[in-house]
Amino acid sequence: MSAPVLVINSGSSSIKYQLVDGETQEASTSGLIERVGQSESTLTHRHEGERTERTEHLADHAAGLEAMVAAFEEHGTPLAEAGLIAVAHRVVHGGERFVQPVVIDDEVEQAIEGLSSLAPLHNPANLEGIRVARKLFPRLPQVAVFDTAFHATVPERAHLYAVPNAWREEHGVRRYGFHGTSHAYVSRKAAEMLGRHPKEVNVIVAHLGNGASVTAVERGRSIDTSMGLTPLEGLVMGTRSGDLDPAIVFHLHRRIGASFADLDAALNKESGMLALAGQIDMRAIEAAAREGDRAAQVALEIYCYRIRKYIGSYIAALGGADAIAFTAGIGENSAEVRAGALGSLVALGVRLDEAANAAGGPIISTPGSPITVMVIPTNEEGEIASQTTALLRN
Ligand code: ADP
Repeated sequence: MSAPVLVINSGSSSIKYQLVDGETQEASTSGLIERVGQSESTLTHRHEGERTERTEHLADHAAGLEAMVAAFEEHGTPLAEAGLIAVAHRVVHGGERFVQPVVIDDEVEQAIEGLSSLAPLHNPANLEGIRVARKLFPRLPQVAVFDTAFHATVPERAHLYAVPNAWREEHGVRRYGFHGTSHAYVSRKAAEMLGRHPKEVNVIVAHLGNGASVTAVERGRSIDTSMGLTPLEGLVMGTRSGDLDPAIVFHLHRRIGASFADLDAALNKESGMLALAGQIDMRAIEAAAREGDRAAQVALEIYCYRIRKYIGSYIAALGGADAIAFTAGIGENSAEVRAGALGSLVALGVRLDEAANAAGGPIISTPGSPITVMVIPTNEEGEIASQTTALLRN
C-alpha cells in the first residue's frame, strides 16, 4: 500500500473500520464491531478474503478499538507496522463550518461536539471514536471527513427553508444534506463511465441504503439533495418517514399529548418501511410482496414513487441530466426498486433496459437512452481515505 489510511466509522453501538490505500481507494482489511457495551459483542475481521469472527464483552469504544488493534496483530499486518499516514473518521454533521476534511485538534473536537444538537444520534458516537483513536494513535494525524461537506455548494434557493430568519441565523436551521462522500464518489465514477470530465456532466445519484438520499450533481457540484437539517427529510427509508407535513407533529402533540421526544423517535426509528411493511430488510419486503402481502406491495409502491418524484424534480432542477446512478445496498442490488423508481420517466429521457437491469448493470439503460442509467457500488471509506490523503499532501 502506498498511503495506508485507517478509516473509522464509529456509531453508537457499532464501529466499522477499513485499512484503505489512499491512492487506489482499495481496502486490504476491514472489520465490523457490533453490540459495543453489551455482554456479547462481536468483532468480524476480514483480511485479504480471510474472515474471522469472535464474540466477547467489549464494554465501550475503547475496548472495541483495542480489539481491532489485536485483530490486526493476529491477521495481516499489525497497525504499528502498516506505515499508516493517518486515521480518518467519518463525521456525520459538519454544520456550516466544516466544508472540507480537517485535521482534528482539541478545538476541532470541541466544534464537532458543538454540532451535536444538529445530529444527536450521530455526532456524539462519531466523537467517541475520535477520542479513543486520538489516545490510541497519538502520533498520527487524525482527520475528520464530513457527510455534509459535499453539499456545501447547494445554493440558497435549495438550502434555505421559508422560515423566520432567526431560525437560520441563531439556530443553524437550513438544508445540510448527508451521504456526501458517497454522492461525491458515485457522481465522479458516473462521469468516468460516460468517458467525460465530472465538470462536463449532470448526474443524479440515488443512494439507497437503510438511510437513503438523492442528490442533483451539476458539473461536479451538489446543487440539491433530499436530506435536510437532519437525515430525516426526503425519501422513505428503513425506519425514517422522509418528507411529511410538519403539522402532523403538532396534530399528534395536541391530540394524544405525544411528547416531542416520542414523536422524534417515532419518525426516526419506527416509521419508513418498518411502519408501512412491518420490516426493513428490502429483500424480505420484496419476497413478501411477491407472495401477495398487500402491505409490502403498497410499501414498495410508496418507496419507489418517492424516489421517482425526486429524480423527476432533479432532472428539472438540473435542466436535464446525463446520467442517473443507483448505489448502496438497495440501489446496487434491487432491480425491482430501480425499475419501480424509473417506471414513468420515459417522457423525461429514461429508457430502461430490462435485461441489463435484471443483470445488475453497470449500464441499465438502452444504448439510445438520452439519460444513461447506471448501477455503481459506492465506496465511502475509499473516498474518505483519498480525501484524507489529498488533505495531508497539501
Ligand atoms: P446502510 O445504510 O446501513 O449502510 P446498506 O447500504 O448496507 O445500508 O443497505 C442495506 C439495505 O440493502 C437493506 O434494506 C437490505 O435489505 C438491502 N439489500 C441488500 N441486498 C439486497 C438485495 N439483494 N436485494 C434487495 N435489497 C437488498
